[in-house]
Amino acid sequence: MDNDSFRHYGHMFVDWVADYFERIGELPVKPPCDPGDVRTRLPENPPVHGEPMDRIFKDFQEIIFPGITHWQHPSWFAYFPANNSPPSILAELLTAGIGVQCMVWQTSPSAAELEEVVLDWLRQMLGLPEGMTGVIQDAASMATLVALLSAREKATNFTANQKGIQSPLTVYASEETHSSIEKGVKIAGYGKENLRYIPTDEKFAMIPEKLEEAIIGDKKNGFHPACAVGTVGTTSSTAVDPLDKIGTICRSHNVWFHVDAAFSGTAAILPEKRWMLDGVEHVDSFVFNPHKWMLTNFDCSAYFVKDEGALIRTFEIHREYLKTRVDTEVKNYRDWGIQLGRRFRALKLWFVIRSYGVEGLQKIVREHIRWAEMFRDWVEQDALFELMAPVPVSLVCFRLNDGRAEGQLNELNKRFLERLNQTGKMLLTQTSLRGKYVLRMSIGARLTEEKHVREAWDLIRSVAEKLVR
Ligand code: PLP
Repeated sequence: MDNDSFRHYGHMFVDWVADYFERIGELPVKPPCDPGDVRTRLPENPPVHGEPMDRIFKDFQEIIFPGITHWQHPSWFAYFPANNSPPSILAELLTAGIGVQCMVWQTSPSAAELEEVVLDWLRQMLGLPEGMTGVIQDAASMATLVALLSAREKATNFTANQKGIQSPLTVYASEETHSSIEKGVKIAGYGKENLRYIPTDEKFAMIPEKLEEAIIGDKKNGFHPACAVGTVGTTSSTAVDPLDKIGTICRSHNVWFHVDAAFSGTAAILPEKRWMLDGVEHVDSFVFNPHKWMLTNFDCSAYFVKDEGALIRTFEIHREYLKTRVDTEVKNYRDWGIQLGRRFRALKLWFVIRSYGVEGLQKIVREHIRWAEMFRDWVEQDALFELMAPVPVSLVCFRLNDGRAEGQLNELNKRFLERLNQTGKMLLTQTSLRGKYVLRMSIGARLTEEKHVREAWDLIRSVAEKLVR
């Protein structure tokens, strides 16, 4: 493709995306697609000769686009959001255009220094302790793996005697913790059997006394407690683990304390939600995802550590071909995680924060929370429905309950969710809380307005009434 054609299609595609945002609300949130629908329309072999962009774009529109689930849809209430925004998209375009690798400072000084500055902006926005330093990881799962590896390294190498620690290392997280913790525990070599799931209270938050019991019990039995993971905003119900108490326990037992705030962390930009991070001064590492609720295109996960030396010692390897003259003066982010080559992700964050401003972002997040509270009140006031968990941020867990036997409610709610989603007018997903099948109304898409939440509730009510009638 020559530069003139690139210019032509570049303009055309930006127009296409802008039009997409205007018409997205009319599209079914999830495509009526069966497995194989897309694949069978694609050639099995790659083209031998280059094809014109017109034809490629036509196929995008006719084959690929109909199989797209519209995460940016205003009636996206599934999972958690994965927001983009115009400034973030434009920055992504520039990032792709300049195509830099951000492994060490000299491979793009601006990328390294902007990452340092923007991560410190985020630290201030969330009220994380001064002295914590940040790095962008691709996803929270990766950041948690990095934390688990650092905790393992600290337990085995930094603090051990010459022989190192021989006893098996253990990890602790609540029974409501995200699946990425178990995945990280497996990858980091702790062994799945050494992950202890700590019971939760009636709000689905970790019971700190049970954590301490488990740590003491393990020590007595010859294990070496290495890491505890607290969650601020669990995936099922956005429960908030008490960081203060957990942190104090971790300190007294010399256990690495990692906090997973993947979705709900963004809410800490609101002064009225800072309580969620009470005790964050005890934390060794902390992750949240601007790619969820902070209008920044996937992928962009902000990972903060108290002791950057512990992180770097876990990952640094000095090969001649990576050395530079300024290594002692700069941050070389290749040593701050698993990847060597890294995308220039700081640019989109910088565009987003500058474009919306802290106040602009606060306003959006505050509205999402207000609508969730409004929705929670409707659920509570309606005899057909049951609220299944507290609503600390913008996720409402509820179920249809027309008074039939408990044993029949899970099946009823599965059918209910299927019917709702079949309408194509909204998308919800489910979870299980203490064995009860629960619908999750997750509010946080950028294009959602109050009217979409109201329309969702009307639809939920009318589908529910038809189902139980
Ligand atoms: N932790 C929590 C609490 C989550 O809710 C999620 C995803 O929703 C993750 C971790 C995983 O996030 P990522 O997709 O960035 O790895």
